[in-house]
Amino acid sequence: MRPFDYRRADDIDGAVAMLALNPSAAFLGGGTNLVDHLRLGVTAPDLLVDVTRLGLDRIEPLADGGVRVGGTVRNSDLAADRLVRERYPVLAQALLSGASGQLRNLATTGGNLLQRTRCVYFQDVTTPCGKREPGSGCSALRGYQRYHAILGASSACIATHPSDMAVAMAALDAVVRVRGRDGERAVPLTDFHRLPGDEPQRDTVLQHGELITAVDLPPLPEGMRSRYRKVRDRASYAFALVSVAAVLDVRDGTVADVRIALGGVAHKPWRASVAERELRGAPATADSFRRAADAELAAAEPVEGNAFKVPLVRGTLVAVLRELSEETAR
Ligand SMILES: Cc1cc2nc3c(=O)[nH]c(=O)nc-3n(C[C@H](O)[C@H](O)[C@H](O)COP(=O)(O)OP(=O)(O)OC[C@H]3O[C@@H](n4cnc5c(N)ncnc54)[C@H](O)[C@@H]3O)c2cc1C
Ligand code: SF4
Repeated sequence: MRPFDYRRADDIDGAVAMLALNPSAAFLGGGTNLVDHLRLGVTAPDLLVDVTRLGLDRIEPLADGGVRVGGTVRNSDLAADRLVRERYPVLAQALLSGASGQLRNLATTGGNLLQRTRCVYFQDVTTPCGKREPGSGCSALRGYQRYHAILGASSACIATHPSDMAVAMAALDAVVRVRGRDGERAVPLTDFHRLPGDEPQRDTVLQHGELITAVDLPPLPEGMRSRYRKVRDRASYAFALVSVAAVLDVRDGTVADVRIALGGVAHKPWRASVAERELRGAPATADSFRRAADAELAAAEPVEGNAFKVPLVRGTLVAVLRELSEETAR
């Protein structure tokens, strides 16, 4: 591991200024992803700026009925928060399905969104990987592909984004608030992570030195129910093979509104907008749910090692929508 400096920032402007002055510096949240990467040699910043004492650890109701989650709120605190459990069960469920209790006690909102892919070649510095080393190729194209993408991938990278929390936030139309040298901006979560294209090294639209200060969760209309389901190789402490976050409102047997995001299928949390369009105004029946899943998955381009994900997503999505529709029917 290369030596590096450590500084604890006292305020947001100071944290942003430290990174602005040093292109090789990085923010440090809970360190549960970044410190692994330092040890593995995946990344080697010469300065870590600890952002966990900036007062960004609060969860606050917003005037419009939504909730603001500070950028350094720990994953455990977010999952346990009363407002989140009551208003956004999908988010609490997603958080609790991730990692372990000890890791969630450290992991922060900002760090979770910016955690990097679990592609084995990305973490193994002896193998070519264009995300870690631009232009070096993609070992996964002819290698281990079980956790890789079936939607939106490119010939440069077929990695998936590993976060559970981000998938729930995508279904909730969350907005990421960031602060950089040029001030503040707000980015819809669905636009925050990128597809790989020919720049797989860029996971998000964030510029160097921009700090995630908060994530805003808009209010959910009365009557909407939400759920997160994660399918994995073992019952706990494993990343998603696929996951579904869904928010559904059924009135008089018809889908009044629906939001769906998929995890484990793409370089970003995948908002299933084709399925959503298919469902709005349709009868809330298993047939409609199957048709919507098929419409979304028509664009899937699995590789040999992950073709199983197509029927797995279909089955999981239909099951989650059926359960939610039975709960919301009125
Ligand atoms: C064994 C293991 C199992 C896991 N299982 C799961 C799982 O099942 N599901 C899941 O979703 N996750 C899982 N994780 C990942 C875990 O959720 C992430 O490691 C964690 O959320 C990262 O948060 P952190 O605060 O520790 O980030 P850090 O490691 O501190 O930082 C991660 C990245 O974010 C940047 N960063 C941190 N905070 C900010 C900020 N406020 N603004 C801008 N940049 C910032 C850092 O510079 C770094 O690039 C697992 C991790 C481990 C080690
Ligand atoms: S899939 Fe992406 S992260 Fe994995 S080896 Fe290929 S370029 Fe690297």
